[in-house]
Amino acid sequence: RAKGTGRNRVSVFDEQLRTVMMSRFAIEGRLRRALDDDGDVAAGLAVNYQPLVDLDTGVIIGFEALVRLADGESPVGPDLFIPIAEEAGIVDRIDLFVLGQALRQTALWAEAGHPLEIVSVNLSASTIMSPELLVELDGAAQALGSAELHLELTERMIIQGTPPVKERLGLLRTNARLGLDDFGTGNSGYAYLMDFPIDFIKLDRTFVGVMEEDAVARAIVSSMVDFAEGLGLGIIAEGVETIGQVDLLRSEGCRIGQGFYYGRPLSAKEFGEVLARQSTGLEAKAAKPASTA
Ligand code: C2E
Ligand code: MG
Ligand code: MG
Ligand code: MG
Repeated sequence: RAKGTGRNRVSVFDEQLRTVMMSRFAIEGRLRRALDDDGDVAAGLAVNYQPLVDLDTGVIIGFEALVRLADGESPVGPDLFIPIAEEAGIVDRIDLFVLGQALRQTALWAEAGHPLEIVSVNLSASTIMSPELLVELDGAAQALGSAELHLELTERMIIQGTPPVKERLGLLRTNARLGLDDFGTGNSGYAYLMDFPIDFIKLDRTFVGVMEEDAVARAIVSSMVDFAEGLGLGIIAEGVETIGQVDLLRSEGCRIGQGFYYGRPLSAKEFGEVLARQSTGLEAKAAKPASTA
């Protein structure tokens, strides 16, 4: 009987492994097809834009660009497919696609009268070493206008953090501001800061999400804000979902945030509409005499 159970376990394990391997293989295929679609227009990928908001005023000052697999098949998020793209050696093509779209949209929105302050994209380790990235960044100034480009990195890069990576980060820093994503989690921590020059940190939503109920989370947020201030780093809160979190973050001294409270990641069209509504609202407010407020 015991023997039978053991054999069963093995076959269940094999089954699970096979399912995982097959879905990895299938997802890699979907990514390759999505990228290959049309030369430089990757028709199977889309970019979503999540508002970055000034917590004091509630005004949208920029966005974080987030990639989506939009090939009409079963939905799979970037948390799952980015690591697969990394292993398959194609993540740089995804990152460059996202960067290109983000820059293009930024220029279009500025032309429409909605200039932004922050344009943020995520980069994987191998993208950092991509020569095309340097070319893209050299040509980015015009599209950016007055906006600042933020490049979000994670600590996984330390592991591959050989001297050339460090050197390259220094080079990227001449055109963009470098930030540490998911700060405070296993992905990104303090040790990184001793080795790599960065300009801002993003507070992970693990802490922000529970800071109203959890005194430890709140203390962690508080100390991370102090820490950033002490080093002269910018700080951006992720995963802001409630007004209570907004109030706490402001009282801790965090001035920029993103999260479902302000807006989910939106299509380019939707984000443009939100910017247009915001401009109309701000103009109406400015036109109104202060005494009637
Ligand atoms: P991230 O950079 O930390 O991005 C934030 C994630 O949190 C996004 O998930 C976003 O949709 C989600 N989020 C935003 N606000 C809230 C909130 O209030 N509550 C909750 N529960 N979640 C919120 P998403 O879009 O699934 O992206 C997951 C991760 O995939 C990103 O985490 C980033 O590490 C990676 N990623 C996304 N796009 C790219 C890309 O173009 N290139 C690379 N290399 N990685 C990317
Ligand atoms: Mg990010
Ligand atoms: Mg993040
Ligand atoms: Mg995060």
